Amino acid sequence: MAIVKAVPSSATKIGGDLLDRFSAIVGAKYAIRDPKQQAPYLREERDLYFGQTALILKPGSVAEVSAIMKLANETGTAIVPQGGNTGLVGGQISFDENAIVLNTTRLNKIRETDAAANTMTCESGVVLARAQEAAAKHNRLFPLSLGAEGSCTIGGNLGTNAGGMQALAYGVARDLILGLEVVLADGRVWNGLRKLKKDNTGYDLRHLFVGSEGTLGIITAAVLKLFPAPRSAATSVVGLKSPQAALDLLNLSQARAGSAVTTFEIMPKIGMECVLANQSGARDPLAARHDWYVLIELTSPMDSNLRVLLEEILGEAVDKRFIDDAVIAESEAQRIAFRKLRSGLSEYQKVLGGSIKQDLSVPVSAIPAFLDEGIAAVKKLIPGVRPMPFGHMGDGNIHFNFSQPEGWTREQFLARWGDVDKVLHEILARFGGSISAEHGIGIQKRDKLASVKDPVEYEMMRAIKKVLDPNGILNPGKVL
Ligand SMILES: Cc1cc2nc3c(=O)[nH]c(=O)nc-3n(C[C@H](O)[C@H](O)[C@H](O)COP(=O)(O)OP(=O)(O)OC[C@H]3O[C@@H](n4cnc5c(N)ncnc54)[C@H](O)[C@@H]3O)c2cc1C
Repeated sequence: MAIVKAVPSSATKIGGDLLDRFSAIVGAKYAIRDPKQQAPYLREERDLYFGQTALILKPGSVAEVSAIMKLANETGTAIVPQGGNTGLVGGQISFDENAIVLNTTRLNKIRETDAAANTMTCESGVVLARAQEAAAKHNRLFPLSLGAEGSCTIGGNLGTNAGGMQALAYGVARDLILGLEVVLADGRVWNGLRKLKKDNTGYDLRHLFVGSEGTLGIITAAVLKLFPAPRSAATSVVGLKSPQAALDLLNLSQARAGSAVTTFEIMPKIGMECVLANQSGARDPLAARHDWYVLIELTSPMDSNLRVLLEEILGEAVDKRFIDDAVIAESEAQRIAFRKLRSGLSEYQKVLGGSIKQDLSVPVSAIPAFLDEGIAAVKKLIPGVRPMPFGHMGDGNIHFNFSQPEGWTREQFLARWGDVDKVLHEILARFGGSISAEHGIGIQKRDKLASVKDPVEYEMMRAIKKVLDPNGILNPGKVL
């Protein structure tokens, strides 16, 4: 899968009368028909997906979402749910000129914060960073944290079951909700906005919708779990020789600090160099360059001296020759700068040209061997390719990316995407890994899904889709 561009369909065009009926639900101001105004909603930032649509609707209430779905179901109109349009597998892009994009960004109310129960009830279009800030105002933490947090939405985070930089300690989006409100394909509204930690009254349906990428229902609100705000933190950039050394450091850190290890991210030298050369104000915190870098952060809701603990861990790691150098942030500003070195990599790897991207997971213990084998195999396949594996090492999740060889064009390189998939996925299968750790399936990995899922599991997925969306109007062509 490389670049996907929509092609005009031969199906009968959706009628103007029907478009008028859809538009009337939200009002003309929030029904976008002008192709120029539609354009930003139809491409994603890496220029891998270019879509088309009949209409973009921006409903402002659950009742409007319900009315849209009722009409879509009655008329067999395809609906593509979209939040902040930051998804990386094309799930939020409409490729059908007869489909309608349902953008949730106007569903942006924080309905309630119950600090004593540690919950916050948010509508699905609330931007993640705003949810984090709202929790902080109540001295609470909403721990989901990722590079796109300034524009991605809670609905998109749940739709993709996003992971991010603190999943190591707090879990993925699925672990961070207690209840959901969902508009079903036929327009019925399921009110499952419970704030209960314990509720064993039958099947737990909320987990069907989390990670379903808009194919089973439109999430309109969620009860988020909050945690005590951290009162102490210690953050370090570490230079080391290999992923095995990083694994040794991870195990040592967790043995000494347990769940206080909230972030453990890895990046290669070439990635650090891209960020240092291009990120405004970025400085190398270490005196020399290293083959690999780890960003490690300890946090605690208690007033503990985590700096001392981190110094002890890093000191022991130096003694055991796991690491070569490390520096601990001296201030909050430096802590943020350290984190930006890692989070900036998604953006600044672009300076090397085309990138073939993978979002893979293996058991944490297998990461060093998996990286070794994968890098060697792709280098053999494409001599001169520049490996750029980075990511959430503590979760066993590597963004196993490769940048184009010098002298190649982007198009020439991206045309080899399928070959790289084949080689890497064969190795991945031997390690018992997953082809999608946190980004989802979307359109990018749809054709691969049936071959990697247990056949019975795949059949169950299709059966669930049939029950919840019998007319196949929710995000058709995605996931299944
Ligand atoms: C710079 C960058 C860094 C990223 N880092 C990470 C990371 O560390 N970890 C990670 O997991 N992901 C990461 N992502 C990808 C991640 O999937 C998204 O950033 C985010 O979770 C999607 O939110 P969104 O609102 O943009 O959703 P969109 O992109 O709009 O949609 C994503 C999917 O969810 C569906 N969807 C959207 N809203 C709803 C809804 N209300 N109900 C049902 N379905 C819905 C869409 O149909 C689509 O299939 C990153 C992306 C970028 C650009």
